[in-house]
Amino acid sequence: MAYIANLDANQQLIIENRDIQTSIALVSSSPGQQQSQSGGIATGHWTKAPQLFKTPSGFILQIDSDRGQYFMQIQASGIQTLATPPLLDNAQQLGLQEIHQTATSQTKMEFEPMKPMKPMEMGNMSMSMNPMSMRMGNMSMEMGKEVKSTSARRFCTQCGQEVEASDRFCGSCGHQLKN
Ligand SMILES: [Zn+2]
Repeated sequence: MAYIANLDANQQLIIENRDIQTSIALVSSSPGQQQSQSGGIATGHWTKAPQLFKTPSGFILQIDSDRGQYFMQIQASGIQTLATPPLLDNAQQLGLQEIHQTATSQTKMEFEPMKPMKPMEMGNMSMSMNPMSMRMGNMSMEMGKEVKSTSARRFCTQCGQEVEASDRFCGSCGHQLKN
């Protein structure tokens, strides 16, 4: 279970319960930089969603767990566990939003090992590598083959042999080619 709360325009509190550990992260962001401080406390398993209060002396986080009730004071200077329950008579309760993934938790991603490329067939579409070719129905495509553009082709004016555009003489008959 994880919850997030906006303390003010550029401060966010992220609270997460994983097993018996509650981790609290205070993330401050100002233009150009982001700072975060976090702490963890073994509270046991939460029995209900944590509650957040705004008091004159800072923010108070209340955690109800199977081990009892915990109070944490959250101030710009840090997060502190309170030994005695604070007075919350005049406190304003703030909303916490449940999230499913926290910024502080590490995302585990598993990929299947890459399999060697094999010719692939899908219905009437097939693809193979080296040279890369693709067939789809009656349409086919090949890549990796040198394709000469017809417009760049030149032919000897004397014998009709194909010559390179840069050739000055025909390789076949020796005829001088005009540029
Ligand atoms: Zn020629």
